[in-house]
Amino acid sequence: MDLLNTLVDKGLRRELPTREEALAVLATSDDDLLDVVAAAGKVRRHWFGRRVKLNYLVNLKSGLCPEDCSYCSQRLGSSTGILKYTWLKPEQASQAAAAGLAGGAKRVCLVASGRGPTDRDVDRVAGTIKAIKEENEGVEVCACLGLLSDGQAERLREAGADAYNHNLNTSESTYGDITTTHTYADRVDTVTKAHAAGLSACSGLIAGMGESDEDLVDVVYSLRELDPDSVPVNFLIPVEGTPLAKEWNLTPQRCLRILAMVRFVCPDVEVRIAGGREVHLRTMQPLALNLANSIFLGDYLTTEGQAGKADLEMIADAGFEVEGAGEVTLPEHRTTAGGGCGSHESAGCGSHEGAGCGSHQGGGVCGTTVPAAAPANEARTDLVAVRRRGAGTDLAPNA
Ligand code: SF4
Repeated sequence: MDLLNTLVDKGLRRELPTREEALAVLATSDDDLLDVVAAAGKVRRHWFGRRVKLNYLVNLKSGLCPEDCSYCSQRLGSSTGILKYTWLKPEQASQAAAAGLAGGAKRVCLVASGRGPTDRDVDRVAGTIKAIKEENEGVEVCACLGLLSDGQAERLREAGADAYNHNLNTSESTYGDITTTHTYADRVDTVTKAHAAGLSACSGLIAGMGESDEDLVDVVYSLRELDPDSVPVNFLIPVEGTPLAKEWNLTPQRCLRILAMVRFVCPDVEVRIAGGREVHLRTMQPLALNLANSIFLGDYLTTEGQAGKADLEMIADAGFEVEGAGEVTLPEHRTTAGGGCGSHESAGCGSHEGAGCGSHQGGGVCGTTVPAAAPANEARTDLVAVRRRGAGTDLAPNA
């Protein structure tokens, strides 16, 4: 396919594809899907080899948010029944982080619900970063605390944060349909502040909220312009109790096309599969490792992910390897000499959004009746489990 040859050539040169080319990737047929994955996989391997970076989420403060992001189970008025708790103590957060690091993660993403931190919150998170770094040498820490005020990014950097996550989520033109309590421009401003403070910027999107292909291409081109080091790609979990609970729009094939498009537009950036991996890619998850070079290990913020052990097995079975703590994630041209984490690359928390499945479906066993396969984009509420373990509970985390 000429389109794919062109996109591979551009990806290897870090040249921006045209919007038409990006849209054409999203419009490919199922017959062409493996060719699309193979082409984007060449770009992924060129910049990241077969390494998969593992990241671990610690939800420092859950629920109780005054904002109204429609996709989020922590939003104002959410009736999802998620865990609700206020700030974890530094030692509690450090304990949760240690579980993820022992499971193979190299980056810890500290996330708190809310519009943005107060200066006191920043102090609190600074204490948590210190506690985690003291206990775990070489760990990379990303903070995801919402909209930042002047000076807060610098204070987080001074406290030892390596990166800051704040997602654009969707295109500028549809942003007002998703959230009314803050604007797209507010989000751009925070990513810019993080960048300017010397934090590695992480910013991504949520697919599946009813957006058009044009919207998806718009947000990915905006991200390329902002130039974050990592781009988390969330697939909406339409959680009961949120306004988007009925938006089951995604198929595994659609998710693969979206990841391929992101890889072609942001070829040398850490593309991370975030929330919704298990729910929407389902058995196609291993194929997606040919496109993304990074995933979250274990649970998400408010929903459960598949067992950490299953993630590790999947990576090995698909012929990939977990990126070690001593390996630099980003290609050399993106690293900054003297950066706090050595590689100055980034992480992502999702978007304060939780996702994941947790509930492993029983596969068909020989001699038993195998249920008929569900239509690809049927509501799969059976794959969504609200997180009931790890941070904020007395139960061991999934890692
Ligand atoms: S995404 Fe963040 S800011 Fe928006 S409702 Fe959820 S927790 Fe609040």
